[in-house]
Amino acid sequence: MSAASQQDGEVRVFAQYDRDFSEEADVVVVGSGPAGAVVSYELARAGKSVVLVEEGPPFTPRDFRRDGNISMARTMREGGLRATTGTFMPVMQANCLGGASLINSAICVRPPDFVFDEWSSRFDLEESSRADLDPHFDAVGEFLGVAPTPQNVQGRRNLLFKRGCDAMGYSSEPVERNVRGCRGSGECFTGCRARAKQSMDISYIPEAIRLGARVLTSLQVQRVMSIGRRAWGVEGQVVEPLSGRTSHRFKVNARLVVLAAGCTATPVLLLKSGDLANSSRQVGRNLQFHPGCAVAGVFPEPVNPRFGATQSYHSLHFLREGFKMETMWAAPAALAVRLPGLGHELLDRFSQFGRMAVWDAISSTHQSVGSVRARFDSMDPAMSWRLHPEDAKLMARSIHALAQIFFAAGAEKILPGVHGLPDEMSSSEEAERLLQHPVRPTDLVIASSHVFCTTRMHGDADKGVVDEIGKCHDFENLYIADTGIFPRCPSVNPMFTVMALARRQALAIADRI
Ligand SMILES: Cc1cc2nc3c(=O)[nH]c(=O)nc-3n(C[C@H](O)[C@H](O)[C@H](O)COP(=O)(O)OP(=O)(O)OC[C@H]3O[C@@H](n4cnc5c(N)ncnc54)[C@H](O)[C@@H]3O)c2cc1C
Ligand code: SF4
Repeated sequence: MSAASQQDGEVRVFAQYDRDFSEEADVVVVGSGPAGAVVSYELARAGKSVVLVEEGPPFTPRDFRRDGNISMARTMREGGLRATTGTFMPVMQANCLGGASLINSAICVRPPDFVFDEWSSRFDLEESSRADLDPHFDAVGEFLGVAPTPQNVQGRRNLLFKRGCDAMGYSSEPVERNVRGCRGSGECFTGCRARAKQSMDISYIPEAIRLGARVLTSLQVQRVMSIGRRAWGVEGQVVEPLSGRTSHRFKVNARLVVLAAGCTATPVLLLKSGDLANSSRQVGRNLQFHPGCAVAGVFPEPVNPRFGATQSYHSLHFLREGFKMETMWAAPAALAVRLPGLGHELLDRFSQFGRMAVWDAISSTHQSVGSVRARFDSMDPAMSWRLHPEDAKLMARSIHALAQIFFAAGAEKILPGVHGLPDEMSSSEEAERLLQHPVRPTDLVIASSHVFCTTRMHGDADKGVVDEIGKCHDFENLYIADTGIFPRCPSVNPMFTVMALARRQALAIADRI
């Protein structure tokens, strides 16, 4: 029986499932984030019948909540409280149509040549240079209107970063984003009410539907069905948004299966399906992040941080050294977890919000590796990961660079957020302590939403889960498209890269079925 009440051209939602059902398709794609959305669109465009299955619900501007904690509870997995053990680090992962594109900052960066050169030489990849991928970056960029953030929506908090970088002699540039008509409201993290951000739910997914793809939300895939080297579909359960209550069962039978459930969900799915695609024993291993540290700076005059595109200036100056610096903004409730103090002290800091800018640095912590395991009683992952002491030093260096920029831009004080050092520093001389102090991994307040490598690509089938276009080495027709296939962290924000890789994969698949 097919999904009975689906009309042509609509996204199917929880209320429409009134029985167990099954679907047939050429291709079933699991997960509607940047990877799954691009694959679905390109395969529909190639004339294939596509079913896109997503566990989360669709959101519209009416559903968005500007209050950070309420929004996180609604749009993110484990209410936004997912975290690693080993070194504790919150890891935000989406649970909604469009995946993290609905709640991310729309930053689109192409990694420089050296990133892909390292991928190629260390992981036996022959066709993954920047030049190989540029046509795919170009196509995705054009589709999504990727362009530098215009001056009129930068706002002071972003332009102060540029001023500080200029004064320090560090290169900086306006961030390129997948946005059309940004109003500078700074609320990308809780959903763009202006619908300016070209998240997947308003870009690739509607176009895929127009081309005939069926999009089914509130369906949790729990198992990939396979015999020998061939996958023949997926099955799982209907899940009610927010409550997580499960109801009817479903199956999608397909000639080819693409997993794009995200770097932490896809390995769990493979492990729970009978340890699939794992002859290399690499499924769930090699887990890497770009851990980020945020530094707040208080200026003598108003910054009016609520105005300005969420993250629209960045510096790639230290990319080779291992970190990238960027401006940021989020709902105050989310930013508050980074501020030191409680009670009156915290209230006092809140009173300085209007003069505050928050900038962050994300680091390529190649030496810090972890793993994802399946939990017995749920599809949520158990993640363990440790920040390596050398990587902690790199992050302290990135905080020091941010401090330099703040003081060069005229900040009167910064809140560095390093245990064992003062809560506030008032001069660049004082900030030198960031380099002198022996910073340990547990001294840093870190978070990450960039997750990689749990089903990594490798030219050698003994060392990786998928080949260069994301086909599982152990299978003829099982593919992975999400950031789990990155062989190493990419040094810059990953969304653009995962979409470029997904487009390349889809074009290759279209020729094979
Ligand atoms: C708050 C935040 C801000 C970010 N900002 C940026 C940014 O500005 N620029 C940038 O480059 N990167 C950013 N990132 C990272 C970037 O968004 C992700 O790397 C990217 O979305 C990964 O795409 P994906 O398709 O691999 O996975 P996801 O976007 O995670 O999509 C996976 C999808 O699969 C679904 N799914 C999971 N399990 C199942 C299942 N069992 N059955 C069915 N569906 C399932 C999930 O609900 C989700 O919708 C940000 C991430 C977050 C969380
Ligand atoms: S800054 Fe505001 S208007 Fe611009 S993309 Fe983000 S949420 Fe939309």
